[in-house]
Order: sequence, then C-alpha cells, then structure tokens
Amino acid sequence: MRMMKRIYLDHAATTPTDPRVVKAMMPYFSDISGNPSSLHKEGLTAAHALDLERQRMAGLLEARPEELIFTGSGTESDCLALYGIAHSYREHGTHIIVSLIEHKAVLEAARRLENEGFAITYLPVDKNGLVSRKMLSEALRPDTILVSIMTANNEIGTIEPIAELAALVHNFRGERPYPFFHTDACQAAGALDIRPERLGVDLLTMNGSKIYGPKGVGLLYVRRGIALSPLIIGGGQERGRRAGTESIALIAGLVKAFDLAEKGRMKESARQSALRDRLFEGILARIPKSRLNGHQKRRLPNNAHLSFYGIEGESLLLLLDASGVAASTASACSVHDLAPSHVLRAIGLPDAWAHSSIRFTLGRSTTKKDIDYVILTLPALVERLRKLSPFHGKKF
Ligand SMILES: *Cc1c(COP(=O)(O)O)cnc(C)c1O
Repeated sequence: MRMMKRIYLDHAATTPTDPRVVKAMMPYFSDISGNPSSLHKEGLTAAHALDLERQRMAGLLEARPEELIFTGSGTESDCLALYGIAHSYREHGTHIIVSLIEHKAVLEAARRLENEGFAITYLPVDKNGLVSRKMLSEALRPDTILVSIMTANNEIGTIEPIAELAALVHNFRGERPYPFFHTDACQAAGALDIRPERLGVDLLTMNGSKIYGPKGVGLLYVRRGIALSPLIIGGGQERGRRAGTESIALIAGLVKAFDLAEKGRMKESARQSALRDRLFEGILARIPKSRLNGHQKRRLPNNAHLSFYGIEGESLLLLLDASGVAASTASACSVHDLAPSHVLRAIGLPDAWAHSSIRFTLGRSTTKKDIDYVILTLPALVERLRKLSPFHGKKF
C-alpha cells in the first residue's frame, strides 16, 4: 500500500513541536527535576533554571521578568487577564469591553463576569473583521476597567490595529491607571511583533501550542504596577498570581519556541505570505462562486479562509482529508457545533457562505508543491459536492 504524504494546513489549531524545542525541554525531565520552591540544592538549581528562563523570555519581549506569569495555556491566560482585572478593580468600575470575534476563552470569561454583575460591551467589527477606533471610543465609559481585543483573529486571520486602539485607551484614561488594555496574541506570536511596550498594551496573552512549542503552557504579561487577583490559589507561586508547581520543562519549551520564532519571523512571514497569496489566488481563479473572508491586506501571513457557495464546509473538509490535506472549517474548538461560528456571524457573512467555508493555515513545513497540490485538487472536490446540491443545498 502506498503511503500518502499528508499536507497539514491547520497550523492555527496547533503547530507540531519543533525538535529543537523538545531538546531544550529534555534536561528538565531528568537532570533538573527539583521543585523551585524547595530550599535544598535540587530546589535551588530548579529555581535558578526557572529564573533564567523567565529572564530570557523577558528579554525577547522587552519586558521585566516580574511582569511575566507562566500559565497552563492560552485559555488560562485569557481567563486570568479578565478575572484578574475584574476582581481587582471592581471597586473602580464594572464595565468591560471585548470584541465580538474574541476567542471563546475571552468570550466565556466575559459571560461569566456578566453573570457576576459586570456590564460587558461586545464590540462589533466591520465586514473584514476590523474593530474601529470610532466604535471603541464610543463604547468607553468612566466605569470601564478593561478592554480586551485580540491581536489577530484565529479564524479569518484579520490583524487588528492594536497599537492604535491601545493608544486610544491610554488617551481616554488620562491620569487614571485604568481602563487596562489586554490583547490575546496567541495567533500573532511568531508572525507579528508582539512586544507589549511597542504595542502599548497592559496585558498580553500567548501560548506554546501555536508557535511550535509544547501544548499546555501559556504566558500572561502584566505591566508592572497592575494588581491581578489570582484564578488559581494555593502555594503562591508566580508572585501569588498563579499557584502550582511550575513546569520548567514546558516553560523552557515555550521560551525556546518563541526565541526560534522571533529569529525567523521576518523571513518566514514573507515566505508564508507569498504561499498564502498563491493559494487563495489560485483557488479563486479556478472555482466559481468562491470568496476570501477576512481582510484582504491586514491578515496573518499563514491564513486563507475561503467559502464556496452551495456546499458544506464539513463535507469538503472530509474530502480534503481523504485526499491527504488537513484543513479546518472554523475554530478547532467548535467541531461539535454546526452553527456558523460567532466570528463569521460577526462579519455578517450570510449563512449560505458561512456554512461553506474552509480555513487553510500554512506553517513552516508548507511548500509550494503542497500549495499547488491543493489548488489542483480542490476544484474537483467542490464540483463533486455541488453536484450533490439537490440534497446538500436544501437548507440554503
Ligand atoms: C489557541 C488560542 C487560544 C487558546 O490557547 P490554548 O493554549 O489552546 O488554551 C486563545 N486565543 C487564541 C487567539 C488562540 O488561537
């Protein structure tokens, strides 16, 4: 039996772990295995290693070591940002602004806070997925304590004007310390410059699983001087902001992954952008009634989100999978939910287009040959599904 080569085009869901990252993690599973909170030699060795990793990460982000909190995921960092600020500053105000296209981690945290009595404004986006400065400035209130807007969207790849939005919030607050500005940069890390002070943000979330690092590790940057109520309490690790024995192996993996990503960022982003353009231009030219979703220009270098009128995205995904190509219909978190995603609804994509969408996200291993294979394979698959449209097309 011939083994078919797999073409993985779902890097927004997760990236494979870079072998150099695995290598950087190994010592912490064997030689250095103490608990950084212990006072004996093994503990001190571990504490020293953790310090070094934190300093390295701070250097890469141009932040201070004490501004970094290592967590268990991007989800945890998002939740910690929202809850941490909400619970620390509720005396000063109970209004929070998030965009309608945030990751579920932010949206679900916001919903819970709403149940606790906080007022949440869900900021609409335009048809390309952009948050406008005008909308944000109209939403800001004297009792606003937090604004959370993602750096780049995981589904449609739209890059938000974070520096401008953050500057607007800074202007609004004047001499007061809040509202704070949090950005979820999980998708942007490795593709864009996310150094917090350059963006002008107060809190920033990223994780390992999207940057060729290990899964199950995240980071929350919190600018010095900002109080943050912990989500996980116990032994007081991470300066009392995230209890639990630190996984130095995962942290070292995250730091190594980010280091590698930063070193290759410009070159790799340019390479992937060119392949991405080749992919969607090739597809749009060959398949009638197809469209690219998200912003034409302000989009992540690896993201091509497309719709093919009259078919079902899930059916196309399965045919692609059988042809050796791994893609996605939306966010990896909503495979069990067949309703159009909240992001596609927020950009106003009609249901018939939303149901027929597919996301390709390129990565470091993606070649021109891979892209050309998809361009050549896809038209026949779409055609096949459209022929079935008397059955599939009913709901449109
Ligand atoms: C993947 C992702 C998350 C969640 O990260 P996990 O580490 O999987 O919890 C949050 N926000 C965005 C934008 C993401 O892409």
